Amino acid sequence: MKYKHLFGPVNSRRLGISLGVDLVPYKYCPLNCVYCEIQSTTHLETTRREFFSPAEIMTELDSFLKSKPHLDYITFSGAGEPTLNSSIGEVIHHIKSRYPEYKLALLTNGALLSDPDVLEAVLPCDLILPSLDAASDDVYQKVNRPHPDLTAQGLIAGLKRLRTAYNGDIWLEVFIVPGITDTPSELELLRDAIREINPNLVQLNSLDRPGAEDWVEAASPERLKEIRKYMRETLPMPVEIIAKIKYQTGMNVLDAELVELIRGTITRRPSTAEDLAANLDIHINEISKVLRELNTEGKLYAERKERGVFYRWIA
Ligand code: SF4
Repeated sequence: MKYKHLFGPVNSRRLGISLGVDLVPYKYCPLNCVYCEIQSTTHLETTRREFFSPAEIMTELDSFLKSKPHLDYITFSGAGEPTLNSSIGEVIHHIKSRYPEYKLALLTNGALLSDPDVLEAVLPCDLILPSLDAASDDVYQKVNRPHPDLTAQGLIAGLKRLRTAYNGDIWLEVFIVPGITDTPSELELLRDAIREINPNLVQLNSLDRPGAEDWVEAASPERLKEIRKYMRETLPMPVEIIAKIKYQTGMNVLDAELVELIRGTITRRPSTAEDLAANLDIHINEISKVLRELNTEGKLYAERKERGVFYRWIA
């Protein structure tokens, strides 16, 4: 079957093996973010509608899932904002009732979460990954360029309502646009808003591929680390960098997301380099580069045992 709404599965470090489900046509979104990697929004809308017959989407899912493929998540994402599709609740219900063995993730800009119908529809998801790039309306307008009906305060209120109503995990993504979203005053407002929203995890992101506007630049690894430190000092939940920017460390060029993945793994479970390579499906040379980088931070402990050298991260 040729799929119109499904893409992947892709092997993503955030979600593991993830099957994407695209519920909206290109490019319907209530925001027009300056950093959007799928370019400018052509339909800046908040009006929800069906766009496609839900039966068409569910037929594709049935066809794909009948072979019971291994997936870590089925993820609503794609070329626009998935919650704009008024049938998202029906599709979620279909998956959860027919394929309860699969976990569901939702990537959303969060702009419509203040709508009770949207909130109700997404509650069965196992993981929700909303965005919050700005806490002041001024910066929200500059960076996310929302539909005129939307405000930063409305977004934050919707995220707080989600936290209250939803029992699953919330991983909040914060996209750093240097000089705009990371000023001291904006970071302070963001931190306060995040504390009130109380997600399970905060993930700092920055530009990887060209954004909608040429002037948007990636935050440097040093700046991202400073912001992570600032957030970690004052927030109760974990804060990590997921930006696919590169660490330039001597001879090594490392992926920040990979560094965080390995750091997280050896915080929970001491592992040899070979274990990490096998479990994460990453070449041992890359693992060795990351371990060397982590060693410079003075918190990497190595212990030789019968099976090899075990690495442990003690924060
Ligand atoms: S919310 Fe997502 S899809 Fe919409 S403009 Fe922003 S980055 Fe692009």
